[in-house]
Amino acid sequence: MKRFIGLFVTTLLLLSSCGSVPLTGRRQVLLVGDQEVLTASLTQYDNYMKSAKRSANQTMTNQVVRVGKNIAAATETYLRTNGLESEIKNFSWEFNLVQSADVNAFCMPGGKIVVYEGIMKYIASDDELAAIMGHEVAHAVAKHSNERMSQQLMTEYGAAVLGTAISGTSSAVQNIAGTVYGLGTQYGIMLPYSRKHEYEADHMGLIFMAIAGYNPQAAVSFWQKMAQGKEGGIPEFMSTHPSDVNRITELRKYLPEALKYYKK
Ligand SMILES: [Zn+2]
Repeated sequence: MKRFIGLFVTTLLLLSSCGSVPLTGRRQVLLVGDQEVLTASLTQYDNYMKSAKRSANQTMTNQVVRVGKNIAAATETYLRTNGLESEIKNFSWEFNLVQSADVNAFCMPGGKIVVYEGIMKYIASDDELAAIMGHEVAHAVAKHSNERMSQQLMTEYGAAVLGTAISGTSSAVQNIAGTVYGLGTQYGIMLPYSRKHEYEADHMGLIFMAIAGYNPQAAVSFWQKMAQGKEGGIPEFMSTHPSDVNRITELRKYLPEALKYYKK
């Protein structure tokens, strides 16, 4: 009977912690509160930014800020026009270009965008930069971090986590954020996203960049360059954003939908 009640409570908690992803509508389990995710990831972000050096290249920095602001505005427009304005308060945007030859970029929960100088070599236009940023922002909007933290919590703490670890500013949540981001470490290696999250971020990113006025077709050319680079043993970006041969095909499938939002 006890076990049955336990199972019942667990099921209830899981049901109550279900969410759904904007735009795609996919159901997801989110065990950590928005505020908790923001607090934990902000700590990681602050630590990272303390160790990072900002780029001295003003032109490229301006490009990152310019495109970033447009993507942020488009994302908020999307949320507002789809009855999700309550999500906007979770974003406090920041756009950074940092000194590093690594081919990488990320967006932390809360809209903290970091682009590495190394990835700018692969950027031929604002449209292509918008493809990266749209994709990264999509990970944040879709709460993929929360989902990953939830999965890690379940793996490491089991069912106990459902009742205790998530309440308050628990050390479990802080630890898990450290595991997911690893930003305190020298290389700032994040846990790779799953392919499911990658495809979802591609889909949403296309829409956000199109609303911002960038040509979504640039996402195809950008990811093609990344895929070619992988063969030569390059991008770190591909290790945190795992891909497969079907990625470009999938991207193309979403293009007609994205092009509806794109007004030149
Ligand atoms: Zn990704």
